[in-house]
Amino acid sequence: MELKLYNTLTNKKEIFKPIEPGKVKIYTCGVTVYDHCHLGHARGSINFDVMRNVFKALGYEVTYVKNYTDIDDKMIKRSLERRIPIAELAKENIESHDKDMADLGVNPPDQAPKATDYIDDMIEITRKLVEKGYAYESNGTVFFRVRKFDEYGKLSGKNIDDLMSGIRVEIDSDKEDALDFALWKAAKPGEPTWESPWGPGRPGWHIECSVMSKHYLGETFDIHTGGSDLIFPHHENEIAQSECANDKPYANYWLHNGMIKIRSQKMSKSLGNFATIKDLVKQYQPELIRFFTLSAQYRQSLDFNHEALAKSAEGLDRIYGAMEKYLSVAPREQLENSRNKSILIQSEIDTFLEAMCDDLNSPKAIAVLFELTRKLNSLEASSDEAGAVYGTLLHLGEILGLLRIPADQWFKTPRIRTIAASNEGLSDDEIDSLIDQRNQARKGKNWELADKIRNQLQDASIVLEDRDGKTVWRRK
Ligand SMILES: [Zn+2]
Repeated sequence: MELKLYNTLTNKKEIFKPIEPGKVKIYTCGVTVYDHCHLGHARGSINFDVMRNVFKALGYEVTYVKNYTDIDDKMIKRSLERRIPIAELAKENIESHDKDMADLGVNPPDQAPKATDYIDDMIEITRKLVEKGYAYESNGTVFFRVRKFDEYGKLSGKNIDDLMSGIRVEIDSDKEDALDFALWKAAKPGEPTWESPWGPGRPGWHIECSVMSKHYLGETFDIHTGGSDLIFPHHENEIAQSECANDKPYANYWLHNGMIKIRSQKMSKSLGNFATIKDLVKQYQPELIRFFTLSAQYRQSLDFNHEALAKSAEGLDRIYGAMEKYLSVAPREQLENSRNKSILIQSEIDTFLEAMCDDLNSPKAIAVLFELTRKLNSLEASSDEAGAVYGTLLHLGEILGLLRIPADQWFKTPRIRTIAASNEGLSDDEIDSLIDQRNQARKGKNWELADKIRNQLQDASIVLEDRDGKTVWRRK
């Protein structure tokens, strides 16, 4: 199956051709670990996690690298504000990031380098760029000579003149040209520094990614990903540094995910519509956030609002509902076969993968899950076909990182928690015990008590369903 990806470098959807057959090397810009991750981070991480799964499903051996930027301007500023060492700030937020990603079902990358572990390599590439005339030192800072690289602007489609008109010309600057950017920054008082041929200082942000990607993936690798807000200047500068230092193309395919809006507005702290992953997973079941994210193709902009999440919850409930019903009646042996994937429906898998191979069209792929759900509902649970449908649902869910929760458990936790929700008042054990009491009451024909318990559960937003003499419950 041919995989097509939209390449920002060529502005075209292209057939993916790996450098080495059967292998794909991917680098994605990680977070600057000065604060908790927000919804924008969740989107990129989820989208490219799914891309990685798709490559694996197509039989590729994947190497996926995502870094931590643990030294840059934001890190320094925040550590001074909070009066804690930068290393402590980094440690705290790396842990926070990893927890958020785990909550969202994002697999850890194969390599997760920290910028500060590669300072020597950053000095080395900077030295090389100076030696080749692509960079110059000025008062302890080393700048990249943008005009020296003819292809500057090829990723963002910006030309030097456009860029010049958008720049405020700095007076008394150490730069030869206002467009030049820092590879190495001279030490300022109170900042962490490393020794270098240009005196004490620290790396610029862009050089970090050029170095870490080369360390793990080589001078030329297959795919570089990131948010569309990183195209300029960050990715443009990565290309300039790496291609001038190595005399080779940097990344063959550049994939950029679209931005996320909150209630139609750009997410920003000053607008008060900023959502951290930590806050969101308190309100929404994490898998719901993942499902919502995948409801749009990764390049489209995505509007996060409560109504959209509620709609996603309905969709996921529909899939889980069919699975739960099937599970409660399916013959045991058939279930085993479904779980170990010995019976799957290849045509549905192909339709799903074809959608994902069309520039990761996740909404179209999710439509296959709904089609399977419809089938599962219409089939006799004991039929072999139902088992195959169930197994295929699980298998495709795995590629999207969805349906990870046992179906009967899914309905026992609220998918959306509102502040006024009262359904957290009863624990699972208390509910089970009340249901037992109700069943006893019914056996003893004490209808009054049975109804009373049912009402009590209803008031706590617990829905009861009597099925084949068994009572199942779910939270609304
Ligand atoms: Zn980067």
